[in-house]
Formats: sequence, structure tokens, C-alpha cells
Amino acid sequence: MKRLLLLSLLVLSHTLFAQDYRWQQRVEYKMNVALDVKTHKVTGDQELIYHNNSNDTLRKVYYHLYFNAFQPGSMMDVRSRNLPDPDQRVMDRISKLNKDEIGYQKVLSLKQDGQEVKHQVDGTVLTVYLAKPILPRSQSVFTMKFEGQVPVQIRRSGRDNAEGIAYSMTQWYPKMAEYDFQGWHLDQYIAREFHGVWGDYDVTINIDPKLTIGGSGVLQNPNEIGHGYEDEGVKIKKQKENLNWHFIAKDVHDFAWTADPDYVHTKAQVPGGPELHFFYQPGEKTTENWTNLKAYTVKHFQFMNETFGKYPYPVYSVLQGGDGGMEYPMCTLITGERNFTSLVGVTAHEAAHAWFQGVLGNNEPLYPWMDEGYTSFASSESMAYLFNTKDNPHKGSYSGYYKLIERGLQEPLGTHSDHYNTNTAYGTAAYSMGAIFLNQMKYIVGEETFYRGMRRYFNTWKFRHPEPNDFVRIMEKESGLQLQWYYRYWILTTKHIDYGIDSVNTADGKTSITLKRAGTFPMPVDLLVTYKDGSKEMFYTPMSEMLGGKSQEDKSIKWSPLDKWNWVNPTYTFSIDKTDVAIVEIDPSQRMADINRENNRVEK
Ligand SMILES: [Zn+2]
Repeated sequence: MKRLLLLSLLVLSHTLFAQDYRWQQRVEYKMNVALDVKTHKVTGDQELIYHNNSNDTLRKVYYHLYFNAFQPGSMMDVRSRNLPDPDQRVMDRISKLNKDEIGYQKVLSLKQDGQEVKHQVDGTVLTVYLAKPILPRSQSVFTMKFEGQVPVQIRRSGRDNAEGIAYSMTQWYPKMAEYDFQGWHLDQYIAREFHGVWGDYDVTINIDPKLTIGGSGVLQNPNEIGHGYEDEGVKIKKQKENLNWHFIAKDVHDFAWTADPDYVHTKAQVPGGPELHFFYQPGEKTTENWTNLKAYTVKHFQFMNETFGKYPYPVYSVLQGGDGGMEYPMCTLITGERNFTSLVGVTAHEAAHAWFQGVLGNNEPLYPWMDEGYTSFASSESMAYLFNTKDNPHKGSYSGYYKLIERGLQEPLGTHSDHYNTNTAYGTAAYSMGAIFLNQMKYIVGEETFYRGMRRYFNTWKFRHPEPNDFVRIMEKESGLQLQWYYRYWILTTKHIDYGIDSVNTADGKTSITLKRAGTFPMPVDLLVTYKDGSKEMFYTPMSEMLGGKSQEDKSIKWSPLDKWNWVNPTYTFSIDKTDVAIVEIDPSQRMADINRENNRVEK
């Protein structure tokens, strides 16, 4: 009987485990590629071990062929030509590309476990009809020969960017699409975001010896290729034959690289890791700034490690390339001819992505606010630290948000990043409203709890593609408060916050204060009362849905928590046993995105 019980418990627990939807697929890439600098073609072999950790039998798999977007008439081209506010870098440039300037990726042959498979290209998505199904918790090996033409630099990837970097090699190989509990993620590439499968990359790149390569991962053979650090007096070996640059990147979801004949390569060490690498073209507009950038990047990594959790990889590379700033696992491509503050700013932003896009790996197309927003939040705080500014680091995010509302362009933050009606709405939603989501979360749960929650989120969900609810749950556990209401209002609706002071009346030795909720978005309220003698008291009313309240934040001000404010009530009245009230102010820290601050303060 006992044994039978144990057995049925085992069966039950196995069944429960099998129903867990948080499995994730895994990939192991081995790529041997050659880039011909005369034809701008990249050819090579890709071996991909694909682990199906799902409970589903797969009969098809899909790859992304991103370079196909850089062709006249592609969805990226048409989208750009039809947006009211197209990206200045794209505009109608794709429509004007000649045959030798376009990008493409062609699969020359594809086998699954040695058997040829049928496949079909539609724009930037390749469908593969499997020779045999991949069963749950089993694997298949795909071997592919492919050829690609590197497009003239239009967006992110390409050759000869505006600053003259020869190759920005991003989205450059046929890449397995992600399959998870939501199914396949198969967006056509129209300019925005990416999502990838966790795994390991072993990449060997054969290239003209005049070019230096920087990229994701750790270079395996620096001595063999004489990969030098010129500021340390080691010269890059000059030779005639092509070099094979061998990189390995573990536990990442993408691999990017750049190559240029004029690169200088310098290094800096973050105490406790990682080692930082910088690749740039020396010159009047770069050398001094890129030299000074090293110390700032070290401090930035220290700030990020302490505030948001420890960067887990051994190296990180800052590569001059691309068309602005774009994040990839273990590296970033940034344009480099900038003034110093802008250079530090873009590096801080892109390197902060290493925590959110790189290590947490949110689904950026679906939840751009979890990536761009959290990254903007972190880099704004780091920049304030680096340049020792006392101003509210998130001020710009709030003003961008208010402006978006004024212009009537706001769309719900839950919108898929490709499907916003304007670039403005997407940009403000993803970057500014995403950052405000965190800054208001800090207001709701309290500062100390918030940062503990951020680190717990990172440590719990690294390498696991967290969903919005996973973040909210971490903050709920850390604070002991209910927070789903806040997520639903801020992310899924376009409702606005507006609190005001209705009246402040003194009678019978008491001051009665009535607050009003003028907006449709309920929030907890911080209310600072300043008395005539200059002393201050912070009153606080939690919102009823929270089922609790935050603790005192500023220990220098008297803390007086009040009863909850039921969210259905448009007003809230309480009284103080004093009559010498001088100033009453709602949300003095200005963390609440209150669309009308005019009614937030009353002076008696
Ligand atoms: Zn970003």
C-alpha cells in the first residue's frame, strides 16, 4: 500500500512537472564562415543541435533570415515608407538599393540528422518541414550551408556605415526562431526587436588579415592570430593569408560582430569582472573620448553590478559600428564620433541592456517596455551617478510621456512593438513609459524594497526569458503587497493618473484635508504637510487593491500612514489635530506620472 502510494505520488509529480509551461528550448550553434571583403558575401556551414525541451512534438521549425529585409519591396521597406514618422536612417533607402547593395540570406542545403529537409522562404522567415518529428524532450541536429550578402548599412547591420566601419555583422546568420509556451515567435523583421533561443555559440570567422574583429563571446585564439592590444605595445601580426577568428559565447541568445581594418583595440578591467574591450577607429573625433570612456564604463559596470545584480559573463565589448546604439549579448554596436557625454550615455544605455536584453532576455517584440524601459531606467540612474547630477534622472521620461498624451498619440503599452501606429508612440511607450513603470513601482513599494526586488528579479530569472507577470510576482513577494492592478492599469490601458487637493479647512483645533482622484487610474498617495514652524509630516494612504502599504522611505521626515483609500471613492478625507498647516503637497517626490500637477499643492 505504502509503495503504491509512493508510486502514484511519483507519477503525479511527473505529470505535474510535464505540465510545467516554463520549459525552454536550447540551441548549440557551431558555425564556420568566411567573409569575402571583395564581394561582401558571407558563406559557411552551420551545425545546430536543437533541443526540444517542450511537451510538444514538432513537425516544423522556423529560422529568421533577417538580411532579406534589406530588399526593395520587403515588409521593412514598405512599412518604413508608410509610417507617418519613419526612422530617418531607413526612410525610402531600402527601395533604392541595387542588386549588389541589397542584403540576402540563402539556404544552400539543409539536413536534419543527415536527411535533406524541405524548406520554404517567405520574406525573413524560413519554414522547415521536418524529415521526422522532433519528439518532446529530444533533439535533432540541423546541418546547413548558407550564403549571405551583407547589405549596404541601412539599419543596424551592413557594410560601410556612416562612420566608415567596414562591417556591422548583426542578424547575419540563419537563426532558429524561439518556440515557447506561447508557440512560435515568427515576426517578419520590419525594423524593431528580437527574441532568441538560449544556447551556446561556437563561431569561426575566416577573413582578410587586414581586418580586426570584435564581437560577442570570448576570443579563443588571440595568440594564434596575433590579436593585439595596440595601446599595450603589441602589434597585430601582418600576414597575407586569411585569419580564422574563433569565438565562443555560452548561455546567450544571439551572436554579433564587427570588422574593420582601422580598429584600435583597448581593454579595461572591472574589479570582480568582466574584462571590457573597446574597438574604434582612431581619429580626431574618437581617440581622446574613447580613451576616457574606459574609466566611465568600468564605473558603470560597478554601479550596475551593485544595483541590479552581477553581470555573469567574463567579457563585454564596446564596438564602433552600426547606426546609433544597439545591444547584443556580450557586446554593443555604437556610433563613435560623438561628444563625450553622448558617448558615455550611449555606452551606459547599451551596456545596461546586457542585464535586461542580454541576461534576462525578455521577449522584446512583445514587451519592449521590459527591455528598453528597464534599460532606460537603469542607465538614467547610472548616468546620474557617473556625472554626479542631483536632478531627477527620470525627468525626461515623464516629460516625453506627458507630451505623447498632449499630442493624442498614446497607445497601450501592451501593444506589440511592430504594431504601434507611429514610431513616436512606440518610442515613448517602450523607453519612457517603461522607465516610469519602474519609477512608479519604486513609489508604490518603497525605495529599499524596490531595489531588493530588482536584484531578486535578475537573480531569479536570468537566462530564462521572464514574462511581465514574473516581474510583478517578484515585486509582490518582496513587498508583501498586491500589485496586479498596477500592471493592468499601466501596461494594458491608457488611463491617466491625476490626484488633487480638494480642500484644506481649519476648525475646532483641527485641520481637515480632502483629496480627490480626478483621473481614472487609482494610486497610493504620499501627502507631505509642512507646518508653520517648518517641520514636516508625511501622510500616506495606500490604494485598497494593494492590501497593505509601503514602509517609511525618508527616515528624516515624520511618517504617518493613514487608512487605505478604496479605489471606488473619488475623494478621501482625513484630519490632523493641528491648525498650523502651511503647505499641503501630493507626491513631493514627483514619481507619480500625474498628468496635472497644478492641483497637487495648496499653500495656506
Ligand atoms: Zn535600448
